[in-house]
Amino acid sequence: MAAIEMKNIVKKYGDGFPAVNDVSIDVEDGEFLILVGPSGCGKSTLLRMIVGLEDITDGDMMIGGKKVNDLAPRDRNLSMVFQNYALYPHLTVYENIAFPLRLANKPESEVDEKVREASKTLELDEHLERKPGNLSGGQRQRVAMGRAIVRDAEAFLFDEPLSNLDAKLRGQMRTEISRLQKRLGITTVYVTHDQTEAMTLGDRVAVLKRGVLQQHATPRELYENPANLFVAGFIGSPPMNFLPAKVTGNQVELPFGTLTIPEDKAAKAQDKGLLIAGIRPDHFEDASVMDADKVTDEATFNATVDVVEWLGNEAYAYIPFEAPPEVREQLTQLEKDLDGESMRTQLVISLDGASRISEGDDATIWVDARKIHLFDPATGENLT
Ligand code: ATP
Repeated sequence: MAAIEMKNIVKKYGDGFPAVNDVSIDVEDGEFLILVGPSGCGKSTLLRMIVGLEDITDGDMMIGGKKVNDLAPRDRNLSMVFQNYALYPHLTVYENIAFPLRLANKPESEVDEKVREASKTLELDEHLERKPGNLSGGQRQRVAMGRAIVRDAEAFLFDEPLSNLDAKLRGQMRTEISRLQKRLGITTVYVTHDQTEAMTLGDRVAVLKRGVLQQHATPRELYENPANLFVAGFIGSPPMNFLPAKVTGNQVELPFGTLTIPEDKAAKAQDKGLLIAGIRPDHFEDASVMDADKVTDEATFNATVDVVEWLGNEAYAYIPFEAPPEVREQLTQLEKDLDGESMRTQLVISLDGASRISEGDDATIWVDARKIHLFDPATGENLT
């Protein structure tokens, strides 16, 4: 196993806009790193440069402390797990796992020992004589990983391995991959465009947009302290609400009312003119289902609820608003970047399942003002 360091990596195809632009990310030995971002952000290109399937235009790719820019893929000793697992249908589980060892002309005794050891770790030892067609999706995934581990690869690389599966199977496989990676403790880089996969699998997550690294952090940090509007909008479902905001003293004026925010947050956002406030749906609540002592006037507003979607343990309420022209352009661009729904015209609020708010009601809504983010509309940077 080995650490992977990407140092100022650049990839240009022809003279065009760089597909990967000065990206530096370190993956520690045994770490699970996710590369995530919308289509075209450069995540697959970056992975292919780690494996050696793509030339590096500039920067250094280091594996186990060694520069590998000019090493052929087979000399990097990495193991790529593909979307369809690339198993041989006519070979048994045993033969599939043994394949890379046979290819390397390993002696039969070593082949047998390694295949048996790997299949035990992966709980495949009872299925060694079966063919891939007679295995479940999860078992096939394990065979693909078995083939990777018998090679004693330095790292596993996954390119959207679950994107062809239905939602239920995807959930199961996600758990399976996470469990295996922890058990094997092997350095892993995993590409996905799915923020749920990113948040649940990664020790750390690198978010890319148009070839540029936006933030590299733990899932919790990304959620709680997004570096900019793009990361804030990309991570979280339903997505964070973005609203025009003006800060005066420790008051923030929003389209539906004025709230008091903590002084340290307010201090960072003074004298900046019109800003964009970000509030996650979870950080609102129906004031009528809360303890009375938690609800203060400075943290509530009244609004007419347009639509309510009740999901059992929670409900989503939608409240229309109109973003002023000064921030509309920025929010329209953000919607495009995120392939998102309208961020300019409605607020999404997650309510406790006990809430009785229904469509057309005038409701009192509480906001957790400590959790508000304030973004600079020109740069997108999170000021708080
Ligand atoms: P997706 O999720 O759609 O696969 P991605 O984030 O993995 O997207 P890449 O496939 O890495 O993105 O592509 C990044 C950019 O580089 C895109 O603009 C793409 O069009 C461009 N690109 C990728 N491969 C080539 C190539 N062989 N020649 C020219 N441009 C390319």
